[in-house]
Order: sequence, then C-alpha cells, then structure tokens
Amino acid sequence: MKYIDEVYKKVAARNSNEPEFLQTVEEVFKSLKPVIEQNDKYVKANILERITEPERQIAFRVPWVDDEGKIQVNRGFRVQFNGAIGPYKGGLRFHPSVYIGIVKFLGFEQIFKNALTGLPLGGGKGGADFQPNGKSDAEVMRFCQSFMTELYRHIGPDVDVPAGDIGVGGREIGYLYGQYRRIRGKFENGVLTGKGLNYGGSLIRPEATGFGITYFTNEMLKANGETIEGKIVAISGFGNVSWGTCRKVTELGGKVVTLSGPDGYIYDPDGVNTPEKWETMVEMRASGRGVVKDYADKYGVEYFEGEKPWGRKVDIIIPCATQNEIHIEDAKKIVDNNIKFVCEGSNMPTTNEALDYLQESGVIVGPAKAANAGGVATSGLEMAQNSMRISWTEEEVDEKLKAIMKNIHDNSRKAAEAYGFGYDLVAGANIAGFVKVADAMIAQGDY
Ligand code: NAP
Repeated sequence: MKYIDEVYKKVAARNSNEPEFLQTVEEVFKSLKPVIEQNDKYVKANILERITEPERQIAFRVPWVDDEGKIQVNRGFRVQFNGAIGPYKGGLRFHPSVYIGIVKFLGFEQIFKNALTGLPLGGGKGGADFQPNGKSDAEVMRFCQSFMTELYRHIGPDVDVPAGDIGVGGREIGYLYGQYRRIRGKFENGVLTGKGLNYGGSLIRPEATGFGITYFTNEMLKANGETIEGKIVAISGFGNVSWGTCRKVTELGGKVVTLSGPDGYIYDPDGVNTPEKWETMVEMRASGRGVVKDYADKYGVEYFEGEKPWGRKVDIIIPCATQNEIHIEDAKKIVDNNIKFVCEGSNMPTTNEALDYLQESGVIVGPAKAANAGGVATSGLEMAQNSMRISWTEEEVDEKLKAIMKNIHDNSRKAAEAYGFGYDLVAGANIAGFVKVADAMIAQGDY
C-alpha cells in the first residue's frame, strides 16, 4: 500500500542507524495494512509518520566515581515517545548494549503495550549503557544518583513515570527514588514504579511480568482447547521475568525445564519448580556474575555452553531474556520439533524473519506487546494505589492482573478477527493498541 510504503521509507531514512527500531516499525506496519486501507482518516492525519517520531528524546552525560576513585562516564537516555493517552510510562534499562536505537524500539513497543492494558498510560523508555554486573552496591548507588540528578527534571507522577527493566530492579529503583526525593524535597512516590513495599511499592509487582506472561500463555492455550497443566516449557534468561514465569507455570501445573544466560543454557528435567531453585535464580542475578552455569553446578544438571534452549523438544517456548533471541535457524528447530506455542516474554525476542516463519508454519505466537504487558499494568496499579494512598492485598492485585491479561488476549483476538487476520495475536495486539492511541491523537488535534 502506497501510504504505508512511503512512510516506511521516510522512517527508514531518518533512523538508518537504528536497526532494532526499524525492525519493530516494520512488524507493526505489516499488521496495520488493512486498518489503513479501511480508514482514510489515518492517512489524512498522516498518523503513521507522527506515531513513529518520538515526542521528545533526551540524551545525557552520567558521570560517577568508582570504588577506586576514578571518574567514569556513561550515557543516559529517556525517550518520551507518545503521551496521547496518559503520562509516559516505561522502564529503564542498564546494559552495555543500550543506545538510542534500543531505547526507541522499546519505547515504540511500549506505546501499544500500554494502550492494550486498558489503563491511561503513554509510552516511553530509558536507560544507560552502564553494566551493573560486577559493580559494588556503592558504585550502583552513585551511578543511580548521578543518573537521577539529570533525569528528575524530565519526570513526575503526571509527566513521565519510569520503572525497571534489564539491569534495573528493586535496588536500583530504591537508589533512584532516594535521589529524586532529595532533589525535589517531596515524597512524590508516584514518580517511579517497582518500589519497595515499605515506601509505596505494590504487592505482586516483582512477579507481575512473569505471572502475566503465564496467564496470557494459558489464555492462548485455552483458545486452542488446551491448558498449561502438564505442559513442558523451555524459557531463556534467569532474571526477573524468568523467575516470575517459573513460579506461575509451576503453580498452574506446568514444568519449566531450561534457563539460560549469556554463557549457555541449563536443562533441568525435574523442573525449575521449588522455592529453593527460584531463590537460587535471585541469588545468581544478584551475584552480578551473569552466568547460568552456577545453577547446573548447584543442582547437578546438564549445562550446554554457548547454546540456546530452542532446540529442545518441549510443548511451549517462552523467551524471557532480551531482544532477537530467536533467529530463523531457531525457528526452524521449533517447527521441526512440532512445538505449537511460542509466547514472547522478553521484548522483541523474535526476528521478523523468524516470526514470519513460525506463523506461516502454524505456530501460535503470543506477541510481547500483549504477553508481557502485565508488568506495566501492575505498575499502573501501583500508581493508582499511590495516588489513592491505599494498598491492595496480594489477592486483589493478582485478580486484577489476571483479568487484565484475559482482556488483552480477548481484545487482541477480536481486533485481528475484525480485520481478517483470524486468530493472529501479533496482528491483533498491534491493531488494538494502534487504534486506541491513533484515535486519541486525532481527537486532540495532536499536530
Ligand atoms: P533482568 O532481570 O535484568 O534479566 C535479564 C536476563 O537476560 C538476565 O539473565 C541477563 O543476563 C539476560 N540478558 C540480558 N541481555 C542479554 C544479552 N544481550 N544476551 C544474553 N542475555 C542477556 O531483566 P528482566 O526484567 O527479566 O527483563 C527481561 C526481558 O523482559 C527484557 O526484554 C525486558 O525488556 C522484558 N520486560 C521486562 C519487564 C519487567 O517488568 N521486568 C516488563 C516487560 C518486559 P546478564 O544480565 O547476566 O547478561
């Protein structure tokens, strides 16, 4: 279609050094073809060019002093991508691979994800090319303080509300909030989510992304006449999302048999299914060593150096580590093993080529935008509790999370069906998220 192709060319020229961002734009545009064809208002409003350009992007210097007294410098980012339906909302990622293209791809995905939650949340994302692994607590604290010394002027409970992501967990959010409070001179805890329980955090927030992914996977299975009970699951990563996924899959009667790290993967035929094993994951993450082999050494299970778990014959695949974990050669193994379900836990874990191959081969894919939206949804619930100055119980938050995940699944399904895609949750999530944000932009005369 001419309009989409023309806009894509412009976006590609403007962002030619940001392949991850272009990858997600291409994937979203593919789903939007029939929507644009049937709704001339989006062409008239040039909505695709507007929605692919961030409202604002900030890059800043983060100087900090290491334990040897040397001054280090990192680069920090915050992209405020789209605020049409609520304050910008999205995590902060601290990882050496972070640059503006990663932050923009995550921010763009976040717009649609946040719209899908049904909560009033705009899309944003941030981070720094800082490696927390191997740093002392004091170094992480000084880094976070310096990061917030710049970031504070751009955020606020009604402006932009960051959270965690890779490399940013409860410890980092604590240091970031402490510095924000010091500079603002106010207890404005709605400014960040993922906080500790004793200063405004929500019960279930640490678990929410993994729990939500599992609820979503279960909805996908139910729509196809099955459930997670009795199913064998391969996941990647051993961080926050992997941890929550292992717990909920176990609770629903399934069994997670793999974990992975940058060094390789482990295969535990008994399942990563006891509180002790989950605690081991937390300890491995906190150690900052970044290797999954420690799990194999502790539990005497097999370890495959330099390999990914996607060649295992299981029932369900749930990538939970990072972007582009599933390439075409992995997709071929998944199809050859006759695996019917892939649910994306991490953001954009599948290359576009691999995604097309999986879907064309009949594999049902739960897209990250929908499947991992439970994290930000529960952050939205944390914001609601902060502004009402109340705390919901664990059961209350979990019930709301479960209902949100079911709604996201059902709305994605309906949107795909309405535009002739059938049961295609990838297309449906893109369409449902887009329509909500695009209509708000048009209503606000946002140009
Ligand atoms: P995390 O706790 O920091 O864990 C990330 C895991 O992935 C770690 O095992 C990490 O290993 C590994 N990893 C990171 N970058 C990698 C790379 N380039 N190559 C190989 N392995 C890598 O982060 P998380 O919060 O679980 O996030 C995991 C994924 O879920 C990300 O895609 C994130 O955007 C997405 N997500 C998270 C949330 C949330 O609430 N936390 C919400 C929605 C989506 P090392 O650090 O040791 O390298």
